Amino acid sequence: MSDIAATTAESPARSPLAAEVARRRTFAIISHPDAGKTTLTEKLLLFGGAINLAGQVKAKGERRNTRSDWMKIERERGISVVTSVMTFEFEGLVFNLLDTPGHEDFSEDTYRTLTAVDSAVMVIDAAKGIEARTRKLFEVCRLRDIPIITFINKMDRESRDVFELLDEIEKTLALDTTPMTWPVGRGRDFLGTYDVINGGVRLLEGGGAKTGAAQQIEIAELAKLNANLDASAVKDELELVTEASKPFELEAFREGHLTPVYFGSALRNFGVGDLLEGLGKFAPEPRAQDSDQRRVEATDPRMSAFVFKIQANMDPNHRDRIAFARLCSGKLSRGMKAKLVRTGKSMPLSSPQFFFAQDRSVADEAFAGDVVGIPNHGTLRIGDTLTEGEDFNFVGVPSFAPEIVRRVRLTDAMKAKKLKEALQQMSEEGVVQVFRPRDGAPALVGVVGALQLDVLKARLEAEYSLPVEFEVSEFQLARWVSSEDRKKLDTFIAANTSSIADDVDGDPVYLARNEFYLGYTKERAEGIEFTNVKDVK
Ligand code: GDP
Repeated sequence: MSDIAATTAESPARSPLAAEVARRRTFAIISHPDAGKTTLTEKLLLFGGAINLAGQVKAKGERRNTRSDWMKIERERGISVVTSVMTFEFEGLVFNLLDTPGHEDFSEDTYRTLTAVDSAVMVIDAAKGIEARTRKLFEVCRLRDIPIITFINKMDRESRDVFELLDEIEKTLALDTTPMTWPVGRGRDFLGTYDVINGGVRLLEGGGAKTGAAQQIEIAELAKLNANLDASAVKDELELVTEASKPFELEAFREGHLTPVYFGSALRNFGVGDLLEGLGKFAPEPRAQDSDQRRVEATDPRMSAFVFKIQANMDPNHRDRIAFARLCSGKLSRGMKAKLVRTGKSMPLSSPQFFFAQDRSVADEAFAGDVVGIPNHGTLRIGDTLTEGEDFNFVGVPSFAPEIVRRVRLTDAMKAKKLKEALQQMSEEGVVQVFRPRDGAPALVGVVGALQLDVLKARLEAEYSLPVEFEVSEFQLARWVSSEDRKKLDTFIAANTSSIADDVDGDPVYLARNEFYLGYTKERAEGIEFTNVKDVK
């Protein structure tokens, strides 16, 4: 695959920084639980040599590693609450894989992680097709024009009709498809894949995991390998696929209108090499990022980054808090000073960290596209921008309107002040959103997924000795309110005080009992904008 590196990183006209940026691919995997994301992740990491043993990514029960050991509920539910990043190198390229939690419960972390990637791999179970969670994550990708590469997994098992699967992607996601490979044989008779672009067949048995050109095998020869294969039917099908498929257009892919489709079996480590090759060839280099001042090019030599996730106590031995920052431009060198634009203060980046599956190591340097962990004691918040001195803030790291709103009830009323502090901290970390009603009523917490409430409860108890319960509140919905006309906003707030709360930044939020109330209020609030996504600044 050295040709990929040659077309990107080794171009002589590029500066060393541009060459480093050009070899980065930062991506996430989106899928429905059980489609095979964990298995595929393991196999991708094996290709990169980032881990030596498959089966380490989601070790269950006692074998769970210390990093995700930080919270009991993770172990109990056998899920990963944390979103982590895995970096591996392959054929001259640096891949940063940002993991999204595999549980069906949503958390804002999942969404925000997608703000930090340049592309995504959509894993589909061949027997199931597009499932609910895949669609939801896909919608988030589409909002951000993130290009998608599709991997149709579990081809070693009985699958749905392949044409029908592609049709489903096209219809339900309004996304054109170009099959890059095509399965030969189905289910138990699955023999391998045909390389639609270059011709040739890669066989499941024998070297399927490798990358590079597929073997040139005559279809008639294939029939000899499996008596159930009808050679002429296979030939017809492959001809049809080659002729009738939409040609792959890089631009349409990069704009999010078309997805290249690969078939394989993560479990059998088949088709993974093709997928990785496709990622290297087609997935975009680190993109330019919008800020409130200007568009920041990845190759801009001045370092800039934004924080998209905060995680506390990742390692029980360290009791630290790590801010995950996506580098948007330039180079980060260990020991450099960065400006935290929100406060205007400078902070030394003395031990930025890289993550390799379950290990972390100190990063001496990182480039645009990379994700580094920055240990801190509460200085950094989600959405924070770090620069080399310039004053701008990246836009587009969103807060999402919570789908569940609850009132926090303290069993010990004496600890109200402590709870206030703890909730402030939890909201800065992005564990939950906290809304403080203007009328002085107790704080409400809002979450996108119910799991976040469990996380909050467990952490308040473990870290602050605050036992809490959640009560259903009279409010079910929250919307940020704003207006171009300050007076109009003030009037609206004054007229609705009992339904207005402040979020963590002091921005006003309208709380509604239900959709009906919300609609009713909206209709009468001329000039007021109600939004369910807020850009964190
Ligand atoms: P996740 O929930 O998306 O992370 O899915 P996992 O990777 O944990 O896979 C779910 C189940 O499907 C596990 O039992 C895997 O062994 C199985 N699985 C994953 N990939 C394949 C595959 O290609 N073929 C078959 N037959 N099973 C697979």
